Amino acid sequence: MKGKVALVTGAGSGIGRATAELFAVHGAFVVVSDKNLEAAQETLALIKKSGEKGLALEVDISRESQIKSLIKETINRVGQLNYACNNAGIEGEQAFTPECSIENWSRVIDINLRGTWLCMKYEIPEMLNHHDGAIVNISSIAGLLGFAGIPAYVSSKHGINGLTKTAALEYAEQGIRVNSVCPGAIQTPMIDRFVEDQSQERKDLMAAHPMGRFGRPEEVAEAVVWLCSDKASFITGQSLAVDGGYTIR
Ligand code: NAD
Repeated sequence: MKGKVALVTGAGSGIGRATAELFAVHGAFVVVSDKNLEAAQETLALIKKSGEKGLALEVDISRESQIKSLIKETINRVGQLNYACNNAGIEGEQAFTPECSIENWSRVIDINLRGTWLCMKYEIPEMLNHHDGAIVNISSIAGLLGFAGIPAYVSSKHGINGLTKTAALEYAEQGIRVNSVCPGAIQTPMIDRFVEDQSQERKDLMAAHPMGRFGRPEEVAEAVVWLCSDKASFITGQSLAVDGGYTIR
């Protein structure tokens, strides 16, 4: 990936951070973006510590103007965009469908689904300028299955998979591949907010993964970087579960 530019949203933590670091290990220049600038700068420092290159930018993916500036700034600073991992997302609150508040519904859909779409809206035209590019959207096993108590999250992640297939179809001929990765439970701050440490709920969730454990952010990053690489050159529109077997039962 030497000479290529990779953009990661939500790169200040968890899966996004691990993905940004792995792109850098493969030689890409990494645009590390997050709504939390300090966290993005920490990721960039890790990248620079290993002698790799990148830049950190503060971007809230629910703000169209900020996404526009992110892409503009990327092109001004490094001239191109080859890979994008649209990863930023939130879990929202837990409540059954009738109890899901309007605020929670709007917030989760705005960030996870509309935010991912907005990123693609501005990434794809740049990729078309050099007739190649690869996008990986971070969905979830909640994009493949139903989960009680998180209706907005499940809807947003199913939506991301639909959007992935649609954009993949639209740009297959022009050399742009679009895939999604559907992680199972991954050991990140998000999962710690979702299920309390030592709780029965956490043990049950772990046991629901045939491998009997949560995944590591690095294991998701490997799938993302591979899907972006030329090694996955005939793969587009797919939603790849990285879930320790959760969805095969
Ligand atoms: P995390 O909470 O550790 O990290 C998310 C990062 O996104 C944070 O740095 C946060 O500041 C940033 N972010 C949040 N809202 C943002 C916004 N509006 N604009 C820009 N940045 C924003 O979470 P994670 O576990 O690393 O999750 C990353 C992605 O993976 C999410 O889309 C999540 O839904 C998905 N995912 C996570 C798991 C899991 O078990 N951890 C499972 C399946 C899917």
